[in-house]
Amino acid sequence: MPDQIDQAIIYARNHHSDFLSELKDFVSIPSVSTTPEYKQEMEKAAHKVAQMASSAGLENIQIYPTSGHPIVFGEWLHAKNQPTILIYGHYDVQPVDPVDLWETPPFQPSLRDQYFLGRGASDMKGQIVAVFAALQSIRHTTGSFPVNIKLMIEGEEEIGSPHLRTFIEDHRSMLSCDVSLNPDAGMIAPDLPTLVYALRGLVFFELKVFGPEHDLHSGVFGGVVHNPAQALCEIIASMHDENGRITIPGFYDHVRTLSLEEREELSRLPMGEDYYLQQTGAPQLWGEPDYTPVERIGARPTLEVNGLFSGFTGQGTKTVLPAYAMAKISCRIVADQEPDEIHRLLRHYLEQHIPSTVRWELNYFGGAPASITDPNHPAATAMKKALELVWKTRPLLKREGGSIPVVGDIQKILGADSVLTGFGLPDDRIHSPNERLHLPTWFKGIEALIAFFYLMKSNLQE
Ligand SMILES: [Zn+2]
Repeated sequence: MPDQIDQAIIYARNHHSDFLSELKDFVSIPSVSTTPEYKQEMEKAAHKVAQMASSAGLENIQIYPTSGHPIVFGEWLHAKNQPTILIYGHYDVQPVDPVDLWETPPFQPSLRDQYFLGRGASDMKGQIVAVFAALQSIRHTTGSFPVNIKLMIEGEEEIGSPHLRTFIEDHRSMLSCDVSLNPDAGMIAPDLPTLVYALRGLVFFELKVFGPEHDLHSGVFGGVVHNPAQALCEIIASMHDENGRITIPGFYDHVRTLSLEEREELSRLPMGEDYYLQQTGAPQLWGEPDYTPVERIGARPTLEVNGLFSGFTGQGTKTVLPAYAMAKISCRIVADQEPDEIHRLLRHYLEQHIPSTVRWELNYFGGAPASITDPNHPAATAMKKALELVWKTRPLLKREGGSIPVVGDIQKILGADSVLTGFGLPDDRIHSPNERLHLPTWFKGIEALIAFFYLMKSNLQE
């Protein structure tokens, strides 16, 4: 087995320039999913994915249209009694604005020092090409793959994957797998390979508070009518205690407890208080004192006010007692909280606590569940070993504060956990001008993926 890994890695090292030219072709396609005028380019990018899948050795490649952008599928299922890995990715990219801040044209990729520059280089065309490069390297040295492979590459991740859940539901057996590989996460630093094993979910609300029938003169009516802006602020303020803990009864009931082992692993992340102070520029950190910043971000839920509106906000003054006030509220939720349950608890809390001096309305916009993979899951173990083999250092385990809804969907609909990794770096400027990919890290990433596919085989046989 180590021999085969080594041979495939040697093949990969001898083909860096081929992989780079593949990446160059892919990044040259302006597959911006949000802009209607790029519709043709989206098709072109989907076909490019299909072509790369085919040259990597996958079969039964199909491009499935959706009412948005197409989803590319492919498979290779000849590894008897071996696990099936579903590779997820997205070929769409973020818009390039503000375009005048780009030092090189975003869709004319170029090399500078150790970087490959272009929109999508890191998020995530580079990651997709890395997977194909790994598969191709394996295929060319042994003629087959050690495990079964399925591929699902969508074109709508950057706009919230509106058609992916239905696609997964409609193609359950075609997509059935033992585990999913999602290389859309990144690393903390070039020398710190990282495995993400949990993501927070998200729930959205809008809370409206109504008072008088219309805006009132604050001199004539102030003091006898409860100001809706004040009532809204009072209810919002009541939803946290002085330790930053959410006061809604039952809110934490299904939060999975951090094990000691996990807390120890998370403490290895070089992201202490100073890191967050420096990243945010906030005068001081805030939040539950019993948890470290990385624990709060990865393993604790939040209730956040995203926007507030009421009354007069123009220049100068106006003595108004506003008729209404509104807040946009969202919660980052963690395993094993459910969006609908959070909605129920919040609504119940408002029923109990909003005074009868105002009327109110809560709109629930739905959400996405959190997801978590046991860090000792066989596939997570294989990825840890693969990363360690290449980087010669024990990878960091991380709980991500953000949300990737597809991971929860794959877990719920297909019953498969995801292994999240990726070879992008925090300073790759994803979604920003001058996006780039650090090539030495990317080449190592290809080698780690080669090792991962082989270790998935030995993993099952142990
Ligand atoms: Zn991405």
